[in-house]
Amino acid sequence: MDKNTTQIISIRIQKTMENLKKNNMEPYYVDSCAQVVDLVKKLCPEGRKVSYGGSMTLEECGVLNLLRSGKYEFLDRAAKGADPDAVMHQAFSCDTYFMSTNAITENGELYNVDGRGNRVAALIYGPKNVIVIAGYNKIVSDLNAAAHRVCEMAAPANTLRLNLNTPCTKVGVCCDCHSADRICCNFVVSKYQKIPGRIKVIIVGEPLGY
Ligand code: SF4
Repeated sequence: MDKNTTQIISIRIQKTMENLKKNNMEPYYVDSCAQVVDLVKKLCPEGRKVSYGGSMTLEECGVLNLLRSGKYEFLDRAAKGADPDAVMHQAFSCDTYFMSTNAITENGELYNVDGRGNRVAALIYGPKNVIVIAGYNKIVSDLNAAAHRVCEMAAPANTLRLNLNTPCTKVGVCCDCHSADRICCNFVVSKYQKIPGRIKVIIVGEPLGY
């Protein structure tokens, strides 16, 4: 990446982190995906009860592997023999919930669109801590840009990943469908938080996820 692009990205990351702080969220920054796991180990000591919301980013930066390592009490709905519904309910009482976000605005807001709503529900209430991990590619100027990002990239790419039968997998953009496989049902904006530091946001200086 050329140095001017790097500088612009760094200015936007800094602005986003300052505004996350103003919204009582705790921002962190690491240069690369390879540094995420070490930071997560500091923020979430071994032995904690943890769970997660579905995310490419968590896979890509090795966090899911860490959670599966046996060092945590891991509520994993994808585990062999697990009852996904029951595990999703148990996740509300975990110590630390991991997820990514569909977008982060430079005003320090998280923007998430969810199908069943378990991921956004845990973000809002339940787990004592939430750790959000996001590549800098998730940073957008405002909530309009966040909605745009989900319609044009995040949601269609996720429906493809999940092998769902929705029109966006064919045309590449949201058609506001009424298909049974629709994943865009609950639209959540997280702004100023009542509990300071409950939501921690790790921004990574590399593109991650959709
Ligand atoms: S509303 Fe339907 S078409 Fe639009 S992105 Fe979501 S799943 Fe795809």
